Amino acid sequence: MLKLYNSLARKIEEFKPVKKTKVGMYTCGPTVYNYAHIGNLRTYVFEDILKKVLRANGYKVKHVMNITDVGHLTSDADQGEDKIEKGSKREGKTAWEIADFYTKAFKSDIKDLGIEEPNVWCRATEHIKQQIKLIKRLEKKGFTYQTADGIYFDTSKLSDYGRLANLQHQELRAGARVDVGDKKNITDFALWKFSPKLETRQMEWLSPWGMGFPGWHVECSAMAEEYLGQPFDIHCGGIDHLSVHHPNEMAQSEAAYGKPLANYWLHGEFLLIPGGEKMAKSDENFITLDTLKKRGINPLSYRYFLLQTHYRKQLTFSWEALEAAQNGLQHLYRSATVISNQTDFSSAEALAKAQESLKTKFFEHINDDLDTPGALALIWTALKDKTISLETLLKLDEVLGLKIKENMEQKEEELPEKIKMLISERDNARAEKDWTKSDDIRGKLEKMGYEVEDTKDGQKICKLL
Ligand code: AMP
Ligand code: ZN
Repeated sequence: MLKLYNSLARKIEEFKPVKKTKVGMYTCGPTVYNYAHIGNLRTYVFEDILKKVLRANGYKVKHVMNITDVGHLTSDADQGEDKIEKGSKREGKTAWEIADFYTKAFKSDIKDLGIEEPNVWCRATEHIKQQIKLIKRLEKKGFTYQTADGIYFDTSKLSDYGRLANLQHQELRAGARVDVGDKKNITDFALWKFSPKLETRQMEWLSPWGMGFPGWHVECSAMAEEYLGQPFDIHCGGIDHLSVHHPNEMAQSEAAYGKPLANYWLHGEFLLIPGGEKMAKSDENFITLDTLKKRGINPLSYRYFLLQTHYRKQLTFSWEALEAAQNGLQHLYRSATVISNQTDFSSAEALAKAQESLKTKFFEHINDDLDTPGALALIWTALKDKTISLETLLKLDEVLGLKIKENMEQKEEELPEKIKMLISERDNARAEKDWTKSDDIRGKLEKMGYEVEDTKDGQKICKLL
């Protein structure tokens, strides 16, 4: 039984999909005005684990992820500059070039992290028609009003606005101390923003209300409905979406269609920088995956680092912890190399029984709201006790996505000539019991980026991360 923490219910619930064997999942994607930082990427790793866990539980998953390439303003209160247009000024490229460039960079990052692509990528700028349709529907039902700068959603018209974040509606009415501009309520949000009168935006469209562009929240609502229908099963994002973006998506979708947008809302906690602050794109000192690679950290080591902490716990980044994670993952690859045919079992039946019981325990952890730290600890104990077969380890890695199979022992034919020669030289040294020479060669191999492990089947070579 799969249990997930549903932010909407504020508790762990048994997962029951709308359809028996199919799951619809929408994950809020990147705003492509800059590189994703490793905090953003933490959220996408958590969502990837969720998808793999759903699949391991027998569900067919339809995963939709948007690309926010317009409408996300520098202030979540619908003020400030469009982040993409800001990026365009910063880099002297067009807004379209900025969006394309950072979309490609994002796709390359997630590939490096072993994150699977969604079934559907949807760009906000390619779904303007659907967004206008949704706003028109809301207008017809009386949920909108116009101000000098756009069309807004009137949150006071929904009695349970903010129930996802447990916001107290009454307290959120425009108070004397809060500057809400022309808005009626502080929580009201833009559905459509007008282009500035004396300025031509690079990204703008004609709508029934005039030239302009969609609000950030309406993008997700319109595209989720387009590809998954309503209600669909799971909606995810980072924890910051719990208080503004997701309540707003939920409000407009539910107001428009009179039914829930999604049944389960999952949120991943923040990656923090040392000192306790959240890593943020607006702080120019954020860390990207490229920064990690330049410091010799393999992206999969970062994935492993993340899996050691539960997705609903804050995690503080440090280089030391990351290096330790890289050593841990290397050790895991090495252990996988060594365990082939090395389990301590008297019979094939005993082996099969132990593997079944191990898999059951693994899924008890992972199905308990994605307890990856518990699942990893279980694997380490089994490796230490030599009670896990390689086949089982590789099976469990289908959920963890650490690419053990690809990174364990290197096949002889794939090794560079120089390395092959050293290995054969070391074979001879060992045959002649020349341990000094054998150790010497081991040192040389390590310097060249290869680790050698002596097993009863001979030397096994593993590439260092
Ligand atoms: P953005 O590209 O800014 O729209 O953010 C992409 C995703 O990253 C969203 O789901 C955010 O909630 C999430 N996010 C932003 N900052 C962090 C952080 N420091 N740690 C984890 N996730 C984050
Ligand atoms: Zn969204």
